[in-house]
Parts: sequence; C-alpha cells; structure tokens
Amino acid sequence: MRGEKGEFWDPEVELLSAEEIRGLQLRRLKETLRRCARSPFYRRWFREAGFDPESLNSLGGLRALPPMDKDTLRSVEPWEFLTVPREEIVRMHSSSGTTGRATVIFHTWKDIQAWTELGARCLYMTGVRRSDVFQNMMGYGLFTGGLGFHYAAERLGAMVIPSGSGNSRRQIYLMREFGTTVVHVIPSYALYLLDVFSDMGLDPRKDTRLRIALIGAEPHTEDLRRRLEEAYGLRAFNSYGLSEMSGPGVAFECPFQDGMHVWEDAFIMEVLDPDTLEPVPDGEEGELVFTTLHREGMPLLRYRTRDLACAYPGRCRCGRWHRRISRIKGRSDDMFIVKGVNVFPMQVEKVLLQSMGVGTNYQILLEMVGNREEMRVRVEVTDELWRGDVRELKSLQKRITAALRDEILVTPVVELVEPGSLPRSEGKAVRVVDMRKDLGGE
Ligand code: AMP
Ligand code: ZN
Repeated sequence: MRGEKGEFWDPEVELLSAEEIRGLQLRRLKETLRRCARSPFYRRWFREAGFDPESLNSLGGLRALPPMDKDTLRSVEPWEFLTVPREEIVRMHSSSGTTGRATVIFHTWKDIQAWTELGARCLYMTGVRRSDVFQNMMGYGLFTGGLGFHYAAERLGAMVIPSGSGNSRRQIYLMREFGTTVVHVIPSYALYLLDVFSDMGLDPRKDTRLRIALIGAEPHTEDLRRRLEEAYGLRAFNSYGLSEMSGPGVAFECPFQDGMHVWEDAFIMEVLDPDTLEPVPDGEEGELVFTTLHREGMPLLRYRTRDLACAYPGRCRCGRWHRRISRIKGRSDDMFIVKGVNVFPMQVEKVLLQSMGVGTNYQILLEMVGNREEMRVRVEVTDELWRGDVRELKSLQKRITAALRDEILVTPVVELVEPGSLPRSEGKAVRVVDMRKDLGGE
C-alpha cells in the first residue's frame, strides 16, 4: 500500500518544481485539446473562436480561446460535451443551489479514479491516515461533497462513516460511539453543531476524539476556522472545489495553513480580472478560471468559477510548488450592493466573529423601508448573554454596529436574537435574504 511511509501521498507529483509543473501541464493540455476535438460542442466552440487546437504550443496559447461559464454549460445539451461514447459514463453530478437548468458533469470510471486519488492526496496532506475514522457529514447525492471524499478516504484506507448531512444528535452519537477522529463538514454546520453538543451537556474537546476537520463547500472566514479549532480542539483545513472541476479536491490547505494548494498537475489555474478577463498579478484578487487536465469524459476549458481569490507565488514551506490561493472571498454573484456600496457577506462574518458574545448563526436581510434601502443584520448571541443583563446586549449591539460601519461603510440595523432562532440549512448556509426585489416590483 502506497503512502503510509512518507510525508507525501504522491511525492513524484507533489514535489514537482514549478518548471516541471508547467511542462506537465503543457503536455496534458495538448492531450486534452486533442480529446476535445471529438466533442460536438468543442468542435463548434473552436470553430467559432477560430482556434486551432493542433497549433497550440505554449500554455499562454490557451488564452486565444474565450472562457466559458455556467451559462455556456446550460446553453447546450450536456451530452454534447462528451469526448467519449455515452456508455463510458459511469456517474453524473450536478452543481448545488442553482436555479434553472442544472449544470451536469459526466464522469468516466477513470475520471472517478483520478478524482479519488486527488482527494486521497488532500486528506493525506493534512495528516489523515489509515488508522483514522472519517465521518463524512456532507450530503450524499448529486452534490459532490459526499461521494467525492467518501471514496478518497476509503482509498487512503481510513474507516468511513457515511453519515451524510443533518440529524445532529445522531452525528454526535456516531462520533462518540465509533471514535471519529476526522470530520468532513460544511463550516456553518460545524458551528451549529456546537449548540447541539452544548444542549446535550457535552464538550467536543473532552467528549470526542476529533483531531482534524476538513471544512469547505462555502465561503468562511479565518475567524470562523479559529473558532472551530478552539471549540472542538482540532485542526481545521480549508477545502475548495466545485462540481464543474469534479468537486472537493481542487485546492486544499497543507499543514502550514497558509493558502490552499491548487493541484496543478490536474488543473490549469488562471486568475483573471472579471471585467477585462486579463490576468491579474500574483497577490491581487481576481476570478479563478480552471482548465481540467486529466478529465476524460467531459473536459472543461477555461471555466469561470465566479470565485474571487488571489494566488500566492513561490514555494510553500511544505516543499510543494503547486501554487496556493487565498481563502475565497466569495463569489462575485454573492456580492450585494446596498446604498451604493459593494458588500461581501464574508466582511460581515469577519466582524461578527471577532465580537465576544456572538453565537453560532447570523443572517443578512436587505429590505426596502419606504423608499430607503435597509440592511438588517440578525445575529444570534450566546445563551449566557441572552439570559444575562440587558445592558450588555445593548452594548454589544452598539459595538457590532460601529465595527460593521467601519468595515463595510454602511450603517446596518443590528438585531441581536435568541440562540437557535434563525433558520438553518443542512447544506450550504444561506446568508443573505434580499427582499428588495419582492417589494420593489422589479
Ligand atoms: P458546487 O457547484 O455545489 O460544487 O459548489 C461550488 C462552489 O462552492 C464554489 O464555486 C465556491 O463558490 C463554493 N466553495 C466550495 N469550497 C469553498 C471553500 N473552501 N471556500 C469558499 N467557497 C467554497
Ligand atoms: Zn504547503
């Protein structure tokens, strides 16, 4: 069995130099383009762009092709993307939380194996080993979070508890009964679960054997990560992926927790200015755009994610050259504009989690009051504060209002609410409720 000896799951690939990575990417890109020429969609796409896949001889040459996005995927029958006969497809997944036609990704057996290997590489990098008990609290089904790492953890040799999402008391029972050491979980749900531990009179630090959490699938702040680490007594690693690039396993934190390594043997990453589509320099924020390098059934070229982040240059302290990205600031389509100011939900989260007394959930409501736009931030407080002195609540409310005004340059109405009173989602958290459109008759 590979991987139990050293520090790396796949040292040959993980330790490639930057130059070797570029060489490998070019070879794989050429293969991918050759493969794409078998797909009806790509034949048309290339023709319309006047792009000759055979003539590409540098990574930069890819930029002659226009980027594609969710609308491109929706605009055609998904089968048209296939570069293999239909009977080669063994599974499909689709993107979560989208409206309209689902965007579907088809996988061959080899695609599933490649994704599984990437996942195992990520898990191993954070310290997961065969002796671990891996509780997978992600939804199983069309959503990629569940099945993706389920197979990855099995591949690595850990024992998997496929608990799926929700059913919080049972999750805690399973953790305790079977000695779970690693959880794969959506961060807002991990935060919520702390309330359930507390309702059950349990302390996850003492009453579980958890040591690692893999958190991802939604934007979250550094403060949220630290809070989870502290409350559970474990290390939490940021996990990034999207169904269009198979799912989790695209970029992952190493033990240094200093940005997520994008697996550049599997993906070409570009960071582009979302307006001009020109590359932005390292360290500057832009939209992540990916090209698959070993996808067999349904390769995607220059896929626009709408996710905003920046790339960190250079070699990481862990020895890997695979470029790192910052935490995802949010999706460009998560951003909302209130009173003429652009705001990301993560800016609000950052302020809230830095305030003592804030509980485990919050919600941002945008509404019209007469002709005026109003931003209302509803925040659950801790049980202790809720039952305590009303003056303390007042003072917290004032402090949060001032801190939010400093951060986002808009003064919101801050409402402190009872623990457990805001709606919860078992999947990705819904942070923003925009009622302006309903009332404004758009
Ligand atoms: P899905 O299409 O359901 O796989 O959702 C993918 C999207 O979830 C990504 O494009 C991101 O917007 C978001 N996402 C996934 N992982 C993370 C993460 N670690 N941090 C922030 N956002 C994430
Ligand atoms: Zn590293």
